[in-house]
Amino acid sequence: MTTLLDMTPPAAAPHIAPTHAAAHANPEPRPSAHLKLWRPSRVFITKAARDSDVAARARRVGAELGAEIIELKGNAVRGLKGESERETYRRAKTSIAIVNAPPSALRFQPIPPSADFRLDLARGCPAHCQYCYLAGSLSGPPITRAYANLDEIFAAVPNFIGQGKITSASETRAHEGTTFEASCYTDPLGIEHLTGGLERAITWFGQQSEAGLRFTTKYARVDDLLGLPHNGRTRVRFSVNAEDITRRFEGGTAKLADRLAAMGRMARAGYPVGLTIAPIMPIENWQAGYGALIRDAGIALPEDADVTVELITHRFTPGSREVLLSWYPGTSLEMDPAVRSEKRNKFGGRKFVYRREMMREMKAWFTDTIARELPNGAVLYWT
Ligand code: SF4
Repeated sequence: MTTLLDMTPPAAAPHIAPTHAAAHANPEPRPSAHLKLWRPSRVFITKAARDSDVAARARRVGAELGAEIIELKGNAVRGLKGESERETYRRAKTSIAIVNAPPSALRFQPIPPSADFRLDLARGCPAHCQYCYLAGSLSGPPITRAYANLDEIFAAVPNFIGQGKITSASETRAHEGTTFEASCYTDPLGIEHLTGGLERAITWFGQQSEAGLRFTTKYARVDDLLGLPHNGRTRVRFSVNAEDITRRFEGGTAKLADRLAAMGRMARAGYPVGLTIAPIMPIENWQAGYGALIRDAGIALPEDADVTVELITHRFTPGSREVLLSWYPGTSLEMDPAVRSEKRNKFGGRKFVYRREMMREMKAWFTDTIARELPNGAVLYWT
């Protein structure tokens, strides 16, 4: 039997990023055996989830990858607290727990502007992005908790059909049906080898005529998704940025060239795809960096690709800033309230965004450049 370890090359295997010329010459990129898998140090299996398929896979794959498998007597995951914040972060980010989603996760919440509802397959993510969207929104040490009661989660979907305010209520997007976003609190492809949750979700949504699944990822190992009976009901978006930003701030994720190649492969397998360009930052020479990104995305895609584009600028809250500075004290990421505009939501929450003139300039530039370089890319929103 081929195991995941068999598919992983020795650490010394050279990684050759495709160039423009190579991408043109080889429109079918090679399989992703050269991509590194996330290797957790610990796999916790909770009592409630221990007989599930997800737990069986996590046990098997975790052991193949050298993780310690910890069978818990109850459902609380303990032992993550280290002597310092840094140590707690390190222990949590190298652990995954297989748990049952709580009842609240079956009451799907609206998630504008991306989709009608949020459908979580997991909460937490093994990557180390220095601007992480999860900072400040999940409580406790940042362990990844993958949900095992997937059948219960899918069984709740019909209760929400036709009730959304985004795709369900949109003339141009109504054909997508009621949409469910699976990457609000995790990167589901980053843990797929351990859980199989995406495979189950894509196959389940493939049998639906009125519902669609969406997820976005900074990973690129898509081989196991290519042949699934998705029936066009799952839109896979790749979260990308100017290469300089991906290198500086997105630890533990796939290289940009590999994400774009994976997008091309998914499009050729008939999936609707997308680019989530986020978080957009006006770094030095930002037009050059983002211009190369948009051009490379166009090169990676087949001509008939069904592709959407989501444009999200960088923002932070006082809470996320504090958490991120404790996780990444040496970061060079700009999080200076003094150079930002402050916005308040209806509950009094504060966030810091770029100033209006900068937002206007960037929005106009992205709109023009996408229209020119990626003409079949439908821009869904700018925020
Ligand atoms: S991939 Fe997304 S969820 Fe994971 S660390 Fe990066 S920003 Fe956070």
